[in-house]
Amino acid sequence: MVVTIPRLGNTYLAAKALFEALEIPYIIPDNNSKSTLETGARLSPEEICLPFKIMMGNYIECIKKGADTIVMTGSCGPCRFGEYCELQMKLLKKLGIDAKIIVIDSPAEIGKEALWNRISEISGASSMRRMEKLKSLYQAVNILSLADQVDATAHHLAGYERNKGECKRLLTECKSEALKCNGPVSMRKVLTKYLHNLKKINVDKTRDPISITLIGEIYSMIEPFGNLDIEEKLMEYGVSSIRHVTTSWWIRDLIFKPLKLNSPDVRINSKAYLPYSVGGHARESIAHAVKAEAEKSDGIIQIYPLGCMPEIVAKSILPTIRKEKDIPVMTLVIDEMTGEAGYLTRIEAYLDMLEARKKRRLIV
Ligand code: SF4
Repeated sequence: MVVTIPRLGNTYLAAKALFEALEIPYIIPDNNSKSTLETGARLSPEEICLPFKIMMGNYIECIKKGADTIVMTGSCGPCRFGEYCELQMKLLKKLGIDAKIIVIDSPAEIGKEALWNRISEISGASSMRRMEKLKSLYQAVNILSLADQVDATAHHLAGYERNKGECKRLLTECKSEALKCNGPVSMRKVLTKYLHNLKKINVDKTRDPISITLIGEIYSMIEPFGNLDIEEKLMEYGVSSIRHVTTSWWIRDLIFKPLKLNSPDVRINSKAYLPYSVGGHARESIAHAVKAEAEKSDGIIQIYPLGCMPEIVAKSILPTIRKEKDIPVMTLVIDEMTGEAGYLTRIEAYLDMLEARKKRRLIV
């Protein structure tokens, strides 16, 4: 068994650490690129969402390198994500590729036994003892959480740094050093070191930078290629950004879902606007938009792939939140035709408007 995963935010670091600890052969997909998307788009139905196409590109690239088992997360929810694995399996079969897809889904959706069987299918490839496997899994989850903390700290402090570009530089160095590590122990040390270094950078606490809350479809939130690297761009502009949807949040949410103890803040904050799930993470988008006001954000940016049904529902509710909470909202819709220049122009114009609005408010 040679395992691979779709490239999705920081999961590649946790997967690398886990498979190394379990001594299971693996292939980590390269950074997503135009060529990954082109490969995936060529093989996917034209009208399917962007994440599907990028994932297909990941699979093909890794299968060419020798992967034969794909581990992905699933959902039985009402949006197209519920169909991803079935459709991807059929497409691979049609191409004559004999790869296995193991879907890890919430126990609330597929049952504890099915989930356990699927996890055992992967862990069965390791000769380690059960306790060692559980320890490795715990370490991988911990790595994911640390990597998300490093991201969040860099994205927040970028608005306060005295040495321009320091947060971005540390973040880039952290990811590249972590990728060179062998196993979870050394990777944990690297991530902890960079988290510490980021917290120690020279900041100007008197600054009052523009602060943005990012909301939207989960792939566009977690995977930089899915949002055309918006967080990196905001760091370059000296803007602080907040994003609550992360892979470590998603795992916590998944674990506590069967007990109905998952993300109580999402349920509370979205209740007045969207009291039930419409698939994807539309409820989270609404809850985080509501929360943005309390977090003193200057504006909200919603990002989603073209045709994303749950986020279209969220978009239709956002004007009400914008009016009631008096907070500007901009929506960016991404597909394979989105040009970077036009995308950047929209972000810059929005930031200029927020800056002017902030100054006006200070004068009043
Ligand atoms: S959340 Fe949106 S982009 Fe993601 S699978 Fe569902 S419809 Fe597609």
